[in-house]
Amino acid sequence: MQNKLFIYNSLSKQKELFKPLHAPFVGLYVCGPTVYSDAHLGHARPAITFDLLFRYLTHLEYKVRYVRNITDVGHLENDADEGEDKIEKKARFEHLEPMEVVQKYMNTFHKNMEQLNTLHPSIEPRASGHIVEQQELIKLLIKKGYAYETNGSVYFDLLKYNEKYKYGKLSGRVLEEMQSNTRTLEGQDEKHNSFDFALWKKATPEHLMRWPSPWSDGFPGWHLECSAMSTKYLGDEFDIHGGGMDLQFPHHECEIAQSTAALGKESVKYWMHNNMITINGQKMARSLGNFITLDELFSGKHKLLTQKYSSMTIRFFILQAHYRSTLDFSNEALQAAEKGLTRLMKALETLRKLKPSESSTVDIKKLREKCYEAINDDLNSPILLSFLFEGVKYINSVNEGVDKLNSADIESLRNLLETFIFEILGLKSEKEIDIDKPFIDDLIDAILNIRQIIKLNKDWSTSDKIRGELNKIGIIIKDKKEEVDWEIE
Ligand code: ZN
Repeated sequence: MQNKLFIYNSLSKQKELFKPLHAPFVGLYVCGPTVYSDAHLGHARPAITFDLLFRYLTHLEYKVRYVRNITDVGHLENDADEGEDKIEKKARFEHLEPMEVVQKYMNTFHKNMEQLNTLHPSIEPRASGHIVEQQELIKLLIKKGYAYETNGSVYFDLLKYNEKYKYGKLSGRVLEEMQSNTRTLEGQDEKHNSFDFALWKKATPEHLMRWPSPWSDGFPGWHLECSAMSTKYLGDEFDIHGGGMDLQFPHHECEIAQSTAALGKESVKYWMHNNMITINGQKMARSLGNFITLDELFSGKHKLLTQKYSSMTIRFFILQAHYRSTLDFSNEALQAAEKGLTRLMKALETLRKLKPSESSTVDIKKLREKCYEAINDDLNSPILLSFLFEGVKYINSVNEGVDKLNSADIESLRNLLETFIFEILGLKSEKEIDIDKPFIDDLIDAILNIRQIIKLNKDWSTSDKIRGELNKIGIIIKDKKEEVDWEIE
């Protein structure tokens, strides 16, 4: 298939035709979660955005190596160089080992990602499993003169870096302005400049996660893991680096500085960032009480929720907005998404039963072109969905006898919709994932209706056999005069 995919590069601030460095291979690195709390809406958006990219690149027959890390050490409070490690803080609070905290929240993250039908990354490296690689990178940066040691901690020298390269390309931050804006915090006297950032931190005596190093018993800085692990698995130069927009500064700026200083060149060709989710127009924050976890959304147990929402409703809701736009959560918006998704899935069922005509009155080939144009335009999923709904309109109109489709066009429309809905957008029919109670009720009623006919024919042994088989799986049949009742044991 000819590649016409354009993606918005946060580095050049424009849409660029996607040209892999080593086609058909594509290297994709996405910053994964720091696993210290339940996954929430904010985790769902990058996961689904880059899942869409992964799925579409695979659809275009690229061989994608999708690396998404797990941060399990070094991410300190407020994304700063001082303060407690987020995981250690939680461990203390929950009386767990830090690695128990990591395992616990990694498990829920994985469970939620499966519920959202995101594909597994090709590699999911953990920061704590790559201490050696991170230390090697620090040694190289010290050797090249871009890092310095103070009291057992190692910092990146941004002023030195800025002499040769330019810091702040993604976020537009200017070093001089940063200096005047930053407050002097405790421990910053170790730094030559307040904007320098930690590559290695000496551990305080009570700090639990620590490793020996040439500088001190300590732990790596948060930004370092992504430079070390992306280079290890994708090479010095790779195609796409993704993450949430909130990671542009300082995380991605620091990653660029580390990698560029170490390798002498830019390592990422395209930077992609998804925008944030707001809740009823407000930023999502624990302090505002509007932090909604995915488990709460799926169960409806949160004071801001008027009902529960299925994982596919959440996925559809996120895909309804372009990944670079903000997306506002509200019950009304989610209910609308739920309705839209039902309409889409119902149309697929109708499509399977459509009666072909001799000729067609709608142009399916044109619709296919429009769908590809939309996805090729920087993964424009809302426009793509509007074209898929144009397909829904055709289906309903053919079903009502207004429009006509011949059998080849019915097949082609089915192929088009199923490819985009299931394979590329990653939606799935909820009937397959949630056989709910009404469905089971209907099934048992159907069996009992057949049993009534058997009884009318006075085939008592078969009738008893059915009662016995249902009994075995815990369904109790109560024969009454006029009707049959049943209950689950
Ligand atoms: Zn990262």
